[in-house]
Amino acid sequence: MKLDILVLAAHPDDAELGCGGTIAIHVKMGHKVGMVDFTRGELGTRGTIETRASEAAESSKILGLCVRENLGLPDGFFKNDREHQLAVIQAIRRYQPDVVLANAIYDRHSDHGKGASLANDSCFLSGLAKIETKDENGKKQEAWRPKAVYHYIQSLFIEPDLVVDITTQWETKIQSVKAYKTQFFDPSSSGPQTYISSPDFLRMVESRAIELGHAIGVKYGEGFTVRRYLGVKSLLDLI
Ligand SMILES: [Zn+2]
Repeated sequence: MKLDILVLAAHPDDAELGCGGTIAIHVKMGHKVGMVDFTRGELGTRGTIETRASEAAESSKILGLCVRENLGLPDGFFKNDREHQLAVIQAIRRYQPDVVLANAIYDRHSDHGKGASLANDSCFLSGLAKIETKDENGKKQEAWRPKAVYHYIQSLFIEPDLVVDITTQWETKIQSVKAYKTQFFDPSSSGPQTYISSPDFLRMVESRAIELGHAIGVKYGEGFTVRRYLGVKSLLDLI
């Protein structure tokens, strides 16, 4: 299945928080968007592998993803090395995306910056024909390099290089985040309080979107950074 946009994320819930609105906007426009989570988030303080998987499935429905898979790499301990790059390259070649959205280039959680590097390096290496990979049926995969990689912004603020207007899909984004009932604020939960489970965390998510939206003259925005200059065919495409 060829995708227009492939979203790569270290943990199930990273993408919802960082770029859920952008995903929903592009799905609404008719683009095919899918997601590959690197780990099952098994080191998360609250919830279990099973609850996280069912929450991710619920969120995928809310966002309208065509496909979502989990590579099952070790949470906290995956590396940007050959073995892990080959797993990500297989996924990139399977979905042949034009655009890849990837983790924040650095963040509070060390998996996020590591996930960004793993995604970025794998996107480049995936275009090298002499790196051979096989699909799930044992068939040789074609080399494929996405045209662009955009890194979303997570917990720590990073100055963006571009901002997407997500105003019309703000509610969809928040619903997709709240699908992770064990992770975020839930007044009925008796689980231990964590950095992301307080109501203040969701307030931060909204205030970030308001700040970035304000910067481009809209209500809500999501920011991205790039490692190479953005190119446009017309300045009139920009808002
Ligand atoms: Zn994460």
